[in-house]
Amino acid sequence: MKHPLAAPLLVALAMSGASVTVHAEEKVLNLYSARHYQTDEQLYGEFTKKTGIRINRIEGKEEELLERLRSEGANSPADVFITVDAARLSAAHELGLFAPVKSRILESRIPAHLRAEDWISFSTRARVIVYAKDTVKPEEVANYADLADPKLKGKVCTRSGSHPYNLSLMASIIAHQGEQQAEAWARGVVANFARAPKGGDTDQIKAVAAGECAVAISNSYYVARLMRSDKADDKKVVDKIGVIWPDQKANGTHINVSGAGMLKHAPHKETAVKFLEYLASDDAQRFFADGNNEWPAVPSVKVANPALQKLGPFKADTLPVGSLGMYRAKAQMIFDRVGYR
Ligand code: FE
Repeated sequence: MKHPLAAPLLVALAMSGASVTVHAEEKVLNLYSARHYQTDEQLYGEFTKKTGIRINRIEGKEEELLERLRSEGANSPADVFITVDAARLSAAHELGLFAPVKSRILESRIPAHLRAEDWISFSTRARVIVYAKDTVKPEEVANYADLADPKLKGKVCTRSGSHPYNLSLMASIIAHQGEQQAEAWARGVVANFARAPKGGDTDQIKAVAAGECAVAISNSYYVARLMRSDKADDKKVVDKIGVIWPDQKANGTHINVSGAGMLKHAPHKETAVKFLEYLASDDAQRFFADGNNEWPAVPSVKVANPALQKLGPFKADTLPVGSLGMYRAKAQMIFDRVGYR
């Protein structure tokens, strides 16, 4: 006996193009994102327009999403995890959440040092030194090493040492100079603190402008954000500060990244690769970088960002991003030892 619903259901399936026997992947991508900017809607909307693939976006804090991925395990619906900071991406790698992606597009477009074993960088940000123009000369703070020099005693402000941005900077110093020198540097920075670490990078910049400290460390996009702000208070802050690309005569300024990887249990693996390749396309690169005043990972893509243009070109450290994760635990241990909290 025929079920009364069977015929209409089959018609509906036929009309939607769906079939029970087709092996092709469903036209959907499940994205776990710990990176949220205003331009995201456009960025993801373009992907859907180009491919017909709908994006289900789950947004959350990095730690929440990592925990969720871990507890979902093999049952996770997530295809791609996208987040900021090499240390966090490395944490996902260490948890075994990612699967490596083989893609000639990604290999040809994203420079080798911005690709880790199983995740890819899509934009870069620099960790810069910000100084008070009225009390500090730029040549006094040309290098990260200067932050540890006794000449800056009582003058340095930074956010917490356990924050991933500082851990990644420290990881790069360990990678370049070894643990001993890195520890001496960290000790010197702590000895130069104007106050115990608190707040985010923007708070450090504002503290420099307010005269609470003379020198601070910040990610470049926080500086750019203030430079592009219309608020009178922010303009005053920008007037008082100078910005340095550290280590130009050595390895270059420490670079951190935003990035993404395909998840090991991704139900839509082909789609995940397609999405990662889309993120490396010219248009997506522009959106991705400009949404947070960052630089595209693809070198040929140029952004017309007035603040970044004003900050000018610089030599960036080309240390492979995977090493930042490799030395993250050591960086934390040293910071604990020297009391960089
Ligand atoms: Fe940030």
